[in-house]
Amino acid sequence: MKRRDFLKLAGAVSIAGCASAVPSKARVVVIGGGFGGATAAKYIRLWDPSIDVLLVERESTFTSCPISNLVLAGFAAMDDIRRGYEGLRRHGVQVVNDEAVAIDAGKKRVKLAHGADIAYDRLVVSPGIDFNFGEIQGYEAAMKAGRVLHAWRAGAQTIELRRQIVQMPDGGVCAISIPLAPYRCGPGPYERASVIAAYFRQAKPRAKVLVLDANPDVTSKGALFKKAWADLYPGTVEYRGNALAVGVDAASMTLRLEVEDVRADVLNVVPPHRAGDIARQAGLITTNNRWCDVDWRTMESKAVPGVHVLGDATLSAPVMPKSGSMANNHAKIAAAAIIELLNGRAPVPVQILNTCYSFVSQKEAIRVSSVHAWDEKDRTLKPVAGAGGLSPARGQTEGGYAWDWARTIWADSLG
Ligand SMILES: Cc1cc2nc3c(=O)[nH]c(=O)nc-3n(C[C@H](O)[C@H](O)[C@H](O)COP(=O)(O)OP(=O)(O)OC[C@H]3O[C@@H](n4cnc5c(N)ncnc54)[C@H](O)[C@@H]3O)c2cc1C
Repeated sequence: MKRRDFLKLAGAVSIAGCASAVPSKARVVVIGGGFGGATAAKYIRLWDPSIDVLLVERESTFTSCPISNLVLAGFAAMDDIRRGYEGLRRHGVQVVNDEAVAIDAGKKRVKLAHGADIAYDRLVVSPGIDFNFGEIQGYEAAMKAGRVLHAWRAGAQTIELRRQIVQMPDGGVCAISIPLAPYRCGPGPYERASVIAAYFRQAKPRAKVLVLDANPDVTSKGALFKKAWADLYPGTVEYRGNALAVGVDAASMTLRLEVEDVRADVLNVVPPHRAGDIARQAGLITTNNRWCDVDWRTMESKAVPGVHVLGDATLSAPVMPKSGSMANNHAKIAAAAIIELLNGRAPVPVQILNTCYSFVSQKEAIRVSSVHAWDEKDRTLKPVAGAGGLSPARGQTEGGYAWDWARTIWADSLG
């Protein structure tokens, strides 16, 4: 008799403190195999192997945004940030390489692009982001022409942007345009500016990085980034706040800001974004036509019962960043809650931790962390006063920790 069958007969499965009497083979379907979805799929299986888990992911491999800025600068390789899904399969997750195109929450079914129609008892949706290209006139045409890239989902655009940066003449300008917050990874654009500047210092000493930020000031780790730019890249990094992009002309490589027009040799324009398309199709978006509000004790959608939304797609709780670290933690809230709900028990709110490293040169990094706990009065997760904080200064030790963090979270999510 298999352990699972034995435990079922005994009437209780005890894994990580979860006693399970899930009827016969409940099925959880997970859409999106990034930081949120992959972690949820794995942890549901780890904590209750009696549950069937099916993960739908449109890409055949996982490519990490964290560390992708080092790839752009030539300090890491694409292979460093790619992982397969075999680790999840070893946990018994059924991984389907397809795209979810429709959710029928009434009938509890998900339709896939290749025609399959899958039933679920609970659904997890972690689709990451899609972009509001329309807010920057001319963007889509310029992107299709390969002239303007965001590289804000790691993959083909990361490779192409690296190529553009390498081909840019010494003395040229690489402009990075940042949308208004909230956006995926607050410190990510400033990290990108820093490591591209580090590459320019080595390979094109007369080249410049121009940071055009729609926000009034650097949105995360501001003092640490500005000190790194002043100390390491004087004359190479130029920062301009209140620089909202409204249009782009690919032919003249000009970015139109509200206040001025800026010409550059490389235009890396990150458009405003929102929850991924499938969230919109399924009616999960609740706020500003962009984000999905959830109950932070379970990650269950406030709009569509039985559907749990994770990661960047969520309407962030107060001071909660859109990060891989958070998506991984959201997934663990959801996994534990789904097991409880499938067993007819009330989920218990938990406390979660965010840690986010940013490289400011090839080897040096800075860090910010925060703890978020359930607040019964305001019924949301709130930052715990006094917990977390910033690294006091940039350093190579932090850079080593940053790589350790990345390898650990890739293994935790997918291994
Ligand atoms: C340059 C950069 C640097 C970053 N650095 C850090 C960092 O150092 N630390 C950190 O914590 N975070 C970092 N982030 C943020 C982090 O990448 C995101 O917060 C994280 O990926 C969010 O996880 P997610 O599960 O919501 O989305 P994702 O990880 O994007 O996963 C979504 C997945 O869903 C799939 N998908 C979408 N729709 C469908 C569909 N309909 N059917 C099937 N599959 C679908 C996608 O292919 C994708 O694999 C960085 C981001 C960027 C851009």
